[in-house]
Amino acid sequence: MSRDYRSLRDPNAEYTARDLSGEAMGVTASRGPRDVEITDVQTTMVDGNFPWTLVRVYTDAGVAGTGEAYWGAGVPELIDRMTPFLVGENPLDIDRLFEHLVQRLSGEGSVEGVTVTAISGVELALHDLAGKLLGVPAYQLLGGKYRDEVRVYCDCHTEQGADPAACADEAERVVEELGYDALKFDLDVPSGLETDRANRHLRPGEIRHKASVVEAVTERVRDRADVAFDCHWSYSASAAKQLAAAIEEYDVWWLEDPVPPENLQVQAAVTGDTLTPIAAGENRYRLSEHRRLLEAGAVDIVAPDVPKVGGMRETRKIADLAHQHYVPLALHNVASPVGTMASAHVAAAIPNALAVEYHSYELDWWAALVEEPVIEDGRITIPERPGLGLTLDRDAVEAHMVAGETLFDDA
Ligand SMILES: [Mg+2]
Repeated sequence: MSRDYRSLRDPNAEYTARDLSGEAMGVTASRGPRDVEITDVQTTMVDGNFPWTLVRVYTDAGVAGTGEAYWGAGVPELIDRMTPFLVGENPLDIDRLFEHLVQRLSGEGSVEGVTVTAISGVELALHDLAGKLLGVPAYQLLGGKYRDEVRVYCDCHTEQGADPAACADEAERVVEELGYDALKFDLDVPSGLETDRANRHLRPGEIRHKASVVEAVTERVRDRADVAFDCHWSYSASAAKQLAAAIEEYDVWWLEDPVPPENLQVQAAVTGDTLTPIAAGENRYRLSEHRRLLEAGAVDIVAPDVPKVGGMRETRKIADLAHQHYVPLALHNVASPVGTMASAHVAAAIPNALAVEYHSYELDWWAALVEEPVIEDGRITIPERPGLGLTLDRDAVEAHMVAGETLFDDA
């Protein structure tokens, strides 16, 4: 607990902010719980399998919050640009600060794109910070939790590309050795059968080959794991319909992004044409774009990315709207442990969460960036510690920073 609860009942009481080990953080003051101001915002970019932009928001209470923004050119610069709009503000007003940043950065493009990504990084840090200031886990700020642990699906790859047997072997390894019961494979990996990738058409032999990959993987781990397949917006409408129909018999978890993202009518037609569940949403921004997806009936499963889409509360709002359409969420995620844990808090706090993605199983130092365990046996147990419940290992972060970066200040 980071704060003496007496200060919440008596705004004039003294309180002592404490770190996760219970050590006093040297702050004893006569102040109410809302008497706190943002003093600075800093970023450090880590060279992971994606460039992870860690964001830290500092306060005059001696407590800082850590978040993460999805990768994107210019994200740290955009966060620098928004810092003057945050300094002096109360960090507990997360929703108002989100709208404040959207408004102040409207000229930078805060409807969609990297500006939303940059705001997301700050929004995650504010949830960590508010949780620490109030002494509650971040999920509590989102309305409490539906589940104590969140399922994680592992994004899988093979050195043999689209070879069906190699994919099946990797599925077996990830289930038996790494402990996951939920997987995803790419289905747009070149097979050597392509003659013209630009036309987005799938020839009959290509359809048969992709179906053979799906068959090999799903048959190998049947009853032990759910398996999704990702197409990364690659195919024409007719090819997507043929592919979705060809794999219906294999009970895939979902087929992701079979067609390009711009035309929602086509997306809805593909989704409505097959029993294979169709997922999309990772390159959509904010509630507004997910509202269009949902109202068009374009998806069976919506897949927002928390540190990209607008943050934790924005994803909560998407989940609420999706719930009205009886649509579940599978949270897209390519983040460090910070963004992954933020996604897990959201997934705990919404009824319609299927799982959170993990996209770094080839990186042996991913878990070392924080002191606490994150993914264990294919699950994230939601911590009861304040905020996101993580402590950065500053030495590990420093060892893996992007060249030229400097490590942000300790709180
Ligand atoms: Mg995807």
